[in-house]
Amino acid sequence: MTIDIKNLVRNNILNLKPYSSARDDFKGENGIFLDANENPFGKLNRYPDPSHRKIKEKLSELNQISTENIFLGNGSDEVIDLAFRIFCEPKKNKVLTFSPTYGMYEVSANVNDVELINLDLNEDFQIDLEALKPYLNDENLKIIFICSPNNPTGNSIQNIKYILEHFNGIVFIDEAYIDFSPEESFRNQIENYPNLIVSQTFSKAWGMASVRVGIAYASKEIIKFYNKVKPPYNISQLNQDAVLNTIDNTKINQVSENINIILKEKKNLIENLGKLDLIKKIYPSDANFILVKVDNADSVYQELVNQNVIIRNRNSVVKNCLRITVGSPEENQKLIQAIQTIKI
Ligand SMILES: *Cc1c(COP(=O)(O)O)cnc(C)c1O
Repeated sequence: MTIDIKNLVRNNILNLKPYSSARDDFKGENGIFLDANENPFGKLNRYPDPSHRKIKEKLSELNQISTENIFLGNGSDEVIDLAFRIFCEPKKNKVLTFSPTYGMYEVSANVNDVELINLDLNEDFQIDLEALKPYLNDENLKIIFICSPNNPTGNSIQNIKYILEHFNGIVFIDEAYIDFSPEESFRNQIENYPNLIVSQTFSKAWGMASVRVGIAYASKEIIKFYNKVKPPYNISQLNQDAVLNTIDNTKINQVSENINIILKEKKNLIENLGKLDLIKKIYPSDANFILVKVDNADSVYQELVNQNVIIRNRNSVVKNCLRITVGSPEENQKLIQAIQTIKI
């Protein structure tokens, strides 16, 4: 199966002449900069590096992937939105996802006026391949979004390889939680599948949700289109520096140590919640959160809020289910204590 990415890209994007910034013309660090109408005074007076070179070099080293296979967005949310802008003709093309899942695919589809096909996951929250098959040959279907480990269910999604082998559009795998999972990232498959986009983020395992930096790994050709379409200065220098400092200063061991603490806490939490009559079911999780079922999610949610413990009520998405993020040991203990006070 050979896929020509150009055939998937919208015509206006193929023909787009991207914005050329002053820093595209001159890339050196030293000089008298009179090229960008910046103010010579002040501490944050210069435009940031539009190509995010230093962070990409770090990621390239860490993951053995060429910088040309890496794109950085203002959070994964921008990585998702740009995929629509590159590949989907509004009112004509479609995308597909599997529910329940992360809400941004649907929001981005609506913002871009692109139809979203929503296939239900089965009772184990896995993809029903038979239900999917009729859609795989639809020429107007441009992107399939797969979230694995899936939010809000927590499980890893199986049969992704099948979809990669049988779909000629873009396969977008959202791996926001992959660092908590024993499964291998699809990042290492981008050489095998030119139509694969793997998104990751600094928001979860790296603990930098406030800096808004998301990552896309994909073929060089896809990354070129991402760079063409993105706003030139989509990541501020403050945010780029925050990421660089974290990568440089937190020894990588610290990141994996924190992940290990969270995973250990998750195990404890599952054990403790399992002892409570209130909790009817705990779903398997490869992420840093767990989905639990109760008899009346709305009231359990409210009673916890009353005690200043905020979890995510997913009742509208999965009947009577609550999503609980694994916190610090103290936070998790407070959660358990709070739940124990709730009368059923
Ligand atoms: C939290 C999360 C993200 C992260 O989004 P950012 O914009 O990078 O903070 C992406 N995808 C899913 C499924 C998430 O749950």
